[in-house]
Amino acid sequence: MKTLQIGIKGTVQGVGFRPFIYNLAVKYSLKGWVNNSDTGVNICIEGDELAIESFLDDITEFAPPLSKIDEINTLERDFEGFETFEIVKSETSSNKTTIISPDIAICDDCIKDIKDVNNFRFEYPFTNCTNCGPRYSIIETVPYDRVNTSMEKFSLCKDCKKEYEDPSNRRYHAQPLCCSKCGPKVQLFDMKNNKISQDNEAIKDIARFINEGKIVAIKGLGGFHIVCDATNDLVVETLRDRKIRPAKPFAIMFKSLKQIKKYLTITQKEEEIISSKEKPITIVKSNSMGLSKYIAPNLDRVGCFIAYTPLHLILFKYLDIPIIATSANLSGEPIIRFKDEIIIKLNKVVDYVLDFNRDIINACDDSVVQVVNNDLQILRNARGYTPVSFKLPKKIDKKILALGANQKSTISIAFEDVIITSPHIADLDSITSMEYFERTIETFKRFYDFEPDLIVCDKHNAYESTKWALKQNCKVVQIQHHYAHLLATMCEYNLDEKVLAFCFDGTGLGDDGNIWGGEVFMSSKKNFKRIFNFKYFKLLGGEKSIKEPKRVALSLLFENFSLDEIKNLNLPLLKKIKYSELILYHKMWENSLNSPETSSLGRIFDAIASFANLVHEQSFEGETGLKIEMFYDESIKESYSYEIINSQIDISSCIKEIVIDKDAKIICSKFLNMLVDIIINISKNHRTFPVVLTGGVFQNKTLLELVVKQLDKNYIKYFYSKKVPLNDAGISVGQIYSQVD
Ligand code: ZN
Ligand code: FE
Repeated sequence: MKTLQIGIKGTVQGVGFRPFIYNLAVKYSLKGWVNNSDTGVNICIEGDELAIESFLDDITEFAPPLSKIDEINTLERDFEGFETFEIVKSETSSNKTTIISPDIAICDDCIKDIKDVNNFRFEYPFTNCTNCGPRYSIIETVPYDRVNTSMEKFSLCKDCKKEYEDPSNRRYHAQPLCCSKCGPKVQLFDMKNNKISQDNEAIKDIARFINEGKIVAIKGLGGFHIVCDATNDLVVETLRDRKIRPAKPFAIMFKSLKQIKKYLTITQKEEEIISSKEKPITIVKSNSMGLSKYIAPNLDRVGCFIAYTPLHLILFKYLDIPIIATSANLSGEPIIRFKDEIIIKLNKVVDYVLDFNRDIINACDDSVVQVVNNDLQILRNARGYTPVSFKLPKKIDKKILALGANQKSTISIAFEDVIITSPHIADLDSITSMEYFERTIETFKRFYDFEPDLIVCDKHNAYESTKWALKQNCKVVQIQHHYAHLLATMCEYNLDEKVLAFCFDGTGLGDDGNIWGGEVFMSSKKNFKRIFNFKYFKLLGGEKSIKEPKRVALSLLFENFSLDEIKNLNLPLLKKIKYSELILYHKMWENSLNSPETSSLGRIFDAIASFANLVHEQSFEGETGLKIEMFYDESIKESYSYEIINSQIDISSCIKEIVIDKDAKIICSKFLNMLVDIIINISKNHRTFPVVLTGGVFQNKTLLELVVKQLDKNYIKYFYSKKVPLNDAGISVGQIYSQVD
């Protein structure tokens, strides 16, 4: 006989862990108890020594699907003589370390329940169980018990209570558990805030409106979506007009995998990811038969996902078409979580709102992923994946808060041996975004009883996150943007060796005060040395040039040709601007007026898209990269020439060759091939070091796959981020890693 105290850490609450333990104890005839605490799950187990051993083995082998065990500790105790095994009340201490589970898409069992006429949850839009449903979005604080969630105000009816208290039921202690008798209700409103209908009548009505071509808002797990018919050009065009969003692609929600396959050709791996329990928006090739051409105008990619809540599934009962489901917000702001905010802010955008009375405590966008080299790559970490935790190789002696960059903001916290990262917040350019940013920090402080000893932020003092950090009464460390990018990748793979890092990015402040973004670093966890960079060029008009690729193209022309030579070049780009304008830009360049120096490869991409006559004015971030990918032709093997002189990667010869080439396919292909050449040549010369590929530029699937293929061919070891976004959303993770010994 033996008595053991067991502590389990990780994502172990709200995922059916206690009933799992209960059933295991019963299986091995063991006595004692299990409970939740703010450090995780605690067990006291007593009985036959061999049985306890099997019990421990089973915990790791058969843990519930949504759980993630980070650590199991055991401690022998004095014999107590327990007579039963029980699930006992949660305890709270002062040391909160348990990881909050992300929101999870409805599971297959719950889908069966809502489709079964004889089930008391038939067509009930808030059906869930311990294997699915909301978590993070409804939690006020830990431990994860119903009283600490927005389900607190709904008391369980007799039928639900029976399931809630039965350890053999899959709804045992499912905190958001409810049914039509005792749970939340849907309500439909017009834009004057008049209630039109409720319950399933409301879902039927909203479906009818969508079918009639109306644009509506529908509350989801972590916020509202703007929804409309994805097959109707007129409707999608109207949405673009109303939202003043000329070209940025919209995500499409489908009823099922079967329906996706009717419209799109997807790979086996994409199918697997689209139907995974996280159900992220997955970017796939579009041969958009039947979808509106305004969904992703002039692009060959589209983001698709399948209905992931019971409410969406019931809605699709009345719809035969896929729908646009895009985050309801004002451009650049966080996703909206209250009906009244929809009515105020989106009054001119949507015609009706479908709301329900289960409050969203923590907003959470949809995640966005793509498949690269037949593997999942997360581009926006949110619903289904976050809060996400990473284990550090050893414990740290301080509590660290990292604030990320300015765009695609996320925050990360670290204590003991774990890093926890928030969902995607927003770009920090608006007051609402900053409010959400601060609220997220407060939420994480509350969840983990966390007060930082140290704040890490970007070097750029104009970033809102940096400004916020410098106002706090706490020690602050500022980390160079691209160094943080590469550390994010190193953190994902727990690397602690010297690496050769290609940090190809949009823009970030460099150590010399210039704007970096095309850097090659020799780096360790502790420090970095820049060994190569793209030769500086001028950003005509600074920030403005980000929106106007033609300015970058002109700047590169001025670097390589005289004004007279330029006049004689027969470039489509030059036909887009007046001669007087050209003179003005040249003056600007000549006198370095509001024209900071940069090495940004992201901006070079912009210039190339302009030379190829694809994009002269960019209407959303990343547009030029997507266009260049679209025109890449793998049968074109040539590449542009470049030189490396004194650690400068000089693309003057590329620019001189580009102005002769007229065909977009040739320009885009030779350009991407040149980048591959640059990376492979430098890597070959530094063979002893593993290569890290990081920064927003590597979201370019075509480029990343080409580089990886060549690295493989040359037997060079490499790493690129798959779980931590390699865009600025990963910066907070890298910032933490810079402070870990
Ligand atoms: Zn379920
Ligand atoms: Fe960046």
